[in-house]
Amino acid sequence: MKKTALICGAGGFIGSHLARRLKTEGYYVLGVDLKYPEFSPTAADDFILGDLRDPYVCQNVLDRPFDEVYQLAADMGGAGYIFTGDNDADVMHNSALINLNTLPLCVQKRVGKVFYSSSACIYPAYNQQDPDNPRCCEDSAYPAQPDSEYGWEKLFSERLYLSFQRNYGLNVRIARFHNIYGPEGVWRGGREKAPAALCRKVAETPDGGEIEIWGDGQQTRSFLYIDECIEAVRRLMASHFSEPINIGSDEMVAINDLARLVVRISGKRLSIRNVPGPQGVRGRNSDNTLIRKVLDWAPNYPLEVGMRATYAWVAQQIEAVRVTEMEEPAWMGLRQNGCP
Ligand code: NAD
Repeated sequence: MKKTALICGAGGFIGSHLARRLKTEGYYVLGVDLKYPEFSPTAADDFILGDLRDPYVCQNVLDRPFDEVYQLAADMGGAGYIFTGDNDADVMHNSALINLNTLPLCVQKRVGKVFYSSSACIYPAYNQQDPDNPRCCEDSAYPAQPDSEYGWEKLFSERLYLSFQRNYGLNVRIARFHNIYGPEGVWRGGREKAPAALCRKVAETPDGGEIEIWGDGQQTRSFLYIDECIEAVRRLMASHFSEPINIGSDEMVAINDLARLVVRISGKRLSIRNVPGPQGVRGRNSDNTLIRKVLDWAPNYPLEVGMRATYAWVAQQIEAVRVTEMEEPAWMGLRQNGCP
């Protein structure tokens, strides 16, 4: 019989890629989200547009004993969204509510396994002050001191999933994602993350120009290409490991160096200007010791290869927007002249 999966957040970046992967593996996939995927049609067999903060929507969606539920829905974004403080109440309230609504239903409907997408943002800020030596191994999460309310909500929800496992026998898998990037991720509008934002800035700036980078650019991060993220999720789901685990790259890079890489990929000559802006912790890198041990595997896709694919995709999006904007006045003129 076909395996069945529900993807909460199937209209988002990781959810839409995951739906595609599960279909290639022969699953029946039901997706739910506030919106359809923005950049290509969903691969899910069925898709419900709905708000998972609403318990009635959750009941409607979780209507059968799915083999697997992937809970990816969250109110989230890049540094410009989660580090300004402007969205803290929504981020905490909306994401917590989704998890609180979903979990009891997973127990009630006897779901086989539940995947929860946590984040590297749960790691304590005090271990991430040195850009060259951040400490992000799984057992360093406590004493807790995430650098954002987004991180606190993720930590709370990790504990919620673990509690449901302990008390109700729910079979959970928890990944702490470290900056996932790639084609079909948000690239403008305020929720985009550093890789897509840098690609956009570089692609939009004429040769000889200048791009702005938030902070002094010495802050470090690692970035995991979407295909590797999906592979890791599938491997984790197939495993027996039910404690939180890092899913990220350990190829750490300073943000200015990432910007230089994108400039090189573009073939342009651009200079970098560091400006004040939200930036989060000074250093962060995925510690892949545990994933190597328990899955006998770790991601190793080179950053440059992934950034080339991402830059090409973002540049294509910008070109598509430019063409649409150029065509729009003619179209609007037709409307004004009474054409349908
Ligand atoms: P995303 O924003 O593209 O996807 C999240 C989806 O959840 C969106 O499509 C959104 O519409 C949906 N959603 C939000 N509120 C909802 C609601 N009330 N009801 C129904 N749907 C709702 O984000 P993503 O990059 O695909 O991330 C997926 C998950 O992984 C999130 O939980 C995120 O916090 C986590 N994560 C992602 C990264 C990353 O780098 N992308 C890093 C760490 C953790």
